[in-house]
Amino acid sequence: MHGRAVSYEALPAVPPALAALGWAPQLASALEALGDGELLPMRVQAADRGSYELLGADGPMTAALAGRVRHDAGPGELPVVGDWVAVEPSPPTIRHVLERRTVLRRAAPTGALQVLAANVDVVFVVSSLNRDLDARRLEQFVAVAADGGAQPVVVLTKSDLLADPSAMLAQVRPVTRGVPLVIVSAQRGEGLEELAPWLTPGSTAALLGASGVGKSTLVNALLGEERQTTAPIKRTSDQGRHTTVRRELIVLPSGALLVDAPGLRLPELWAPEQGLAAAFADLDALAEDCRFSDCAHRSEPGCAVRAAIDAGELDPGRLAGFLELEEQTAGRTQRPWA
Ligand SMILES: [Zn+2]
Repeated sequence: MHGRAVSYEALPAVPPALAALGWAPQLASALEALGDGELLPMRVQAADRGSYELLGADGPMTAALAGRVRHDAGPGELPVVGDWVAVEPSPPTIRHVLERRTVLRRAAPTGALQVLAANVDVVFVVSSLNRDLDARRLEQFVAVAADGGAQPVVVLTKSDLLADPSAMLAQVRPVTRGVPLVIVSAQRGEGLEELAPWLTPGSTAALLGASGVGKSTLVNALLGEERQTTAPIKRTSDQGRHTTVRRELIVLPSGALLVDAPGLRLPELWAPEQGLAAAFADLDALAEDCRFSDCAHRSEPGCAVRAAIDAGELDPGRLAGFLELEEQTAGRTQRPWA
């Protein structure tokens, strides 16, 4: 035995079945505060237009959403995959959404907030290590991944056709400064063990990336089997018929939970704070030496960021990418997940 013995007696006991789903003492306190002993804590595995697939200590359940929860929900507050909810067992009804620790969110093409998943610990930003790899796109994905409080990790899926990836890597290094970078070959099963530190039992990971970057191959490799593809849900909207891909929580053999977010072409960042700091750690560090603490790095005198560009120490594309993302988020609220 190493280290000091720690007493856990003060913490509420977490039932093992719930712990496996990511249940934590602060959630237990939140549930208790609702003051209704009938309510069951369950996690949203999938949400499908008013019907929710839930996982709990006693197994899965399908539940509806209480009208009051629907009515009172602000933007982005309806339950999504990964949410912890308090459920009335009979008839199965979601009565409350417990406070979220983190969210994976973006600005939808309409400009509205869209929460893709909740209570995510780590977001794997998946990109393929080939000629399509673009530093500007990657930094935008990293910013979106970190925006709602999750830890971003860049996962580059190696194309077996690419003999020497070093030139590609040199291009993405500045973007991944301060962000862990893992290279995997899902087809060959190489590099997957490097993801293990983020895939511990009860932790929740999400995959974010454009279509065709090898996300499904990666999911299958992590599962150790070919995943049954869920049939896309057909929807009819005012714009006509379109198809959406279902997001759901998958339990991995490691005991971690994984949310497979459908391919997003280039998600727009919702709020400027955490996402930009994570994706632009180098720029952030330089900005500490700007003469003005609120320097916008445009035309202010004594701008350390522009000085670094003039000195050839910073790629001008980095500043351009930063300013573009900052502009994207202008005027949006900065509440934790709304
Ligand atoms: Zn500056």
